[in-house]
Amino acid sequence: MQRDLLISDLHLSDERPSITDRFVEFLGREATGSRGLYILGDLFDYWVGDDELNADDGAPLARRVASALEALARAGTPVYVMQGNRDFLLGRSFFSACGALPLPDPTVTEIGGVKTLLMHGDSLCTDDRDYMAWRQTARSPSWQAEFLAAPIGERRARSRALRAESEARKRTKSVEIMDVNQQAVVEVFRRHGVTRLIHGHTHRPGRHELNLEGRRCERWVLPAWFEGGGYLRAEDGEARLVSLPPGNA
Ligand code: MN
Repeated sequence: MQRDLLISDLHLSDERPSITDRFVEFLGREATGSRGLYILGDLFDYWVGDDELNADDGAPLARRVASALEALARAGTPVYVMQGNRDFLLGRSFFSACGALPLPDPTVTEIGGVKTLLMHGDSLCTDDRDYMAWRQTARSPSWQAEFLAAPIGERRARSRALRAESEARKRTKSVEIMDVNQQAVVEVFRRHGVTRLIHGHTHRPGRHELNLEGRRCERWVLPAWFEGGGYLRAEDGEARLVSLPPGNA
């Protein structure tokens, strides 16, 4: 059986071009020939609307990433993209530009031969009340319609302000508050009837085991790409985290 690869939290932006280089390299190397590439949210550090792809006032970064993903899809590896809390405005034009399939959060699908629950992970951080309130606002059609109606420059400025505000708040919060809530994790395992969950968002890569009514369940957390980055490789019922060296670009 062929391998499935999963990544998240690349936070691509013009401020960190080396991550984009590393990502494009990864698509041409590790991802090529895999059965599927799953991007579980926060591919971009922010996405203010699909007009990022326009040649006139969009970002060259957006077009570069879309064309690299499109090349992978064209070469025969399906690309699935889930929206994260930074790029929840990725829309239909983005998906068609990169030949990617939207992946709803949550999704249950077979990954490397195992029925697996895929999530971005932010919805599991229920201890972070501020964040959960903002999440509800940002996901509402009325907030999104109002935001998207503004000119692109204004949307970028608002996104920058929102990020600065969230960074400032994060500094006052404990690591535990920003991590997943154990009860929320148990609930999703029960609700979806799976024994494997893969998510990103917390930037705390690893594998956690839990025992649920006699079933052994595993939760994999994907790494962020700020330093090196990496991916989860799943095949033949097994999964492992693979790190990319920082100088891979
Ligand atoms: Mn996130």
